[in-house]
Amino acid sequence: MIPYGKQDINQDDINAVLEVLTSDFLTQGPKVPLFEKAFIKKCAAKFGVAVNSATSALHIANLALGVGKGDLVWTSPITFVATANSALYCGAAIDFVDINLMTGNICVDALERKLIFAEENNTLPKVIIPVHLAGQSCDMAKIHALSLKYRFKIIEDASHAVGAKYKGKPVGSCQYSDITVFSFHPVKIITSAEGGLAVTNNKLLAQAMRQFRSHGIVSDEASMTEPSHGPWYYQQIGLGFNYRMTELQAALGLSQMTRLDEFVTKRNALAKIYDQAFNNTSLLRLTPNDNAYSSYHLYIVLLASCDKGSHKNIISQLREKNICAHLHYIPVHTQPYYQKLGFKDGDYPIAEEYYQRAISLPLYPNLAVKEQQYIIDTLLSEIKTSNHKQKLIGQ
Ligand SMILES: *Cc1c(COP(=O)(O)O)cnc(C)c1O
Repeated sequence: MIPYGKQDINQDDINAVLEVLTSDFLTQGPKVPLFEKAFIKKCAAKFGVAVNSATSALHIANLALGVGKGDLVWTSPITFVATANSALYCGAAIDFVDINLMTGNICVDALERKLIFAEENNTLPKVIIPVHLAGQSCDMAKIHALSLKYRFKIIEDASHAVGAKYKGKPVGSCQYSDITVFSFHPVKIITSAEGGLAVTNNKLLAQAMRQFRSHGIVSDEASMTEPSHGPWYYQQIGLGFNYRMTELQAALGLSQMTRLDEFVTKRNALAKIYDQAFNNTSLLRLTPNDNAYSSYHLYIVLLASCDKGSHKNIISQLREKNICAHLHYIPVHTQPYYQKLGFKDGDYPIAEEYYQRAISLPLYPNLAVKEQQYIIDTLLSEIKTSNHKQKLIGQ
């Protein structure tokens, strides 16, 4: 089976992990700070907090921004469930803003309409989490402008967008947000097996996230409520978690960083081949934004029209032919857990239409030219068959 995404591990990565394994520190050693340093340099942010997953990073980002009971957090329904869950962990309520069908990202016009309504009804959100679907940045300048008017904070969920750019600057520079969160799950752009990182330019937010990462414990005297008792002393000044990244993970992440640009360039080159192959066919690709350089975590196409049956059939046929076509994402508000919270089918119609038309095709740095051609040929032939069948039914 050709997977939809796959890590690229070389001998340097293996050596980096082996070196840590025989060193003094398996956790809480020098590699995590080194990884943080390399990462913030790459995305031109001031502070970085590495954790064991992007889910944890989202959780502590919300907490650092003071999200709690009685607060509202808004995000996109087209995301992995973790984005929305992170607000629920804090006791806040979640709500969604519908997407733009052709980018898959949060629709800024829908956002503005919802904000105007929320202001009238006293239900403005504390935090909005835009998600850079497939690696293409949302229109952050516009969302940031709205944040000034309606006084909400912004966490970018850039899990897909490691190595991406917006208006010429790296995603993660936090020019238009308070915190940006990245994932290093193996299907993402670079991997640390499991892992995530939250970056910010705000020192206090970084400090708060560091505390939440490690039990709410501080060991610098300046943060303590009384003078240190001695060299063993630490204080727990809040309630935190164990969300630490291990040294093994950080060493892998650090080693992968050296090939980040290469990975993103390769992904863009493969995406271009898909683009050209689907030109002048009925398939639509997500519309590129002139301001955004995508990291192409995913290559997503949309079928020309909504047809639940043929959409399912095309994905199933591709799987049967050893191509692991996928679908990112099932709209979060249609998940049973979220329906129990009161969300209903029909709440976000564009996201639901997107779900009936989108297909993610395999894309990863080592996808071979021959494999990609096989994917293209198979998909186009399935679409032809499906169109033909529809015509027969129509007669
Ligand atoms: C992968 C992903 C996450 C969660 O990342 P983990 O590192 O697996 O916790 C969150 N949001 C989005 C959009 C993702 O793709």
